[in-house]
Amino acid sequence: MELWFTERQTPHQDFSLRVERTLHREKTPYQDLAVLETAQWGRMLVLDGYIQTTVEDEFVYHEMIAHVPLCTHPRPRAVAVIGGGDGGAIREVLKHPSVQRAVLVEIDGRVVEAARTYLPEISSGLADPRVEVRIEDGIAHLAQRRAEYDCILVDSTDPVGPAVGLFSAEFYASVYRALTEDGLFVAQTESPFFNRDLIQRVFASVSQIFPVARLYWATVPTYPGVFWTFTLGSKRHDPLAVVSEELDRRLTFPTRYYSAGIHRASFVLPPFVEELIQAGKAGAAPSRSNGGGAR
Ligand code: SAM
Repeated sequence: MELWFTERQTPHQDFSLRVERTLHREKTPYQDLAVLETAQWGRMLVLDGYIQTTVEDEFVYHEMIAHVPLCTHPRPRAVAVIGGGDGGAIREVLKHPSVQRAVLVEIDGRVVEAARTYLPEISSGLADPRVEVRIEDGIAHLAQRRAEYDCILVDSTDPVGPAVGLFSAEFYASVYRALTEDGLFVAQTESPFFNRDLIQRVFASVSQIFPVARLYWATVPTYPGVFWTFTLGSKRHDPLAVVSEELDRRLTFPTRYYSAGIHRASFVLPPFVEELIQAGKAGAAPSRSNGGGAR
């Protein structure tokens, strides 16, 4: 008998993977958590029925959420990851020799425990002495911080439940205050095919708060639409102003997706995405949504 996991990406589109084994399933105080062994992508973390990460394609997302901002900052020392309980973003952050302190702020301790048990390749960095794991709400955590972090990475679930506030203008204002005077942040901002309103709204908020606002993208095969965006807000440093020689110099570690060329290329946007964010900035009416569900 074959077992299949199906993610309902929109009311009109499903994504299915053949499952070899269910390794873990529980209801945490925040969400339904599952770790599945899939035939195509290896072990996979699922929250509330939505794919969070898989062992085979996680490198794309985690390298891109970490190295684009950290290579843009000249010397990131203190870094916070909001969400990201699987540990993948932290693992990449630790590859930067300047990092002295990496704080993981995850609301659901069960996600961290499941990642430690079932996803050691992804969570390995959590044992590093530079890492502080705080099981608390990322919104409350940043609200109490002033000029503390050089980089903040918002590695959140979709904007449902406790993650809703992580996509609000108030939250980005508190991210601004928690950053050092030349700090920068990045947030995962979903698919331009399915989440147009969200991308437009987030980009408009970030551009109002930060002098530098940029959108970049990467291909994540297990996320809806594959084409996945990140929104970056910076107080001073512009990711587009970092020269290739500097990026090469910073890459003292191996990567599988990120490179100096990808850093630059990921900011080149197809016209439909460029129009989307420019319309948002200009305060135009939100564009038509494409039926995207939670994602
Ligand atoms: N890369 C993934 C994606 O794009 O689907 C996200 C991975 S990570 C597992 C997302 C984490 O954000 C979840 O473990 C969830 O518990 C956490 N989270 C959601 N809201 C949060 C909040 N307000 N503060 C801290 N963590 C939060």
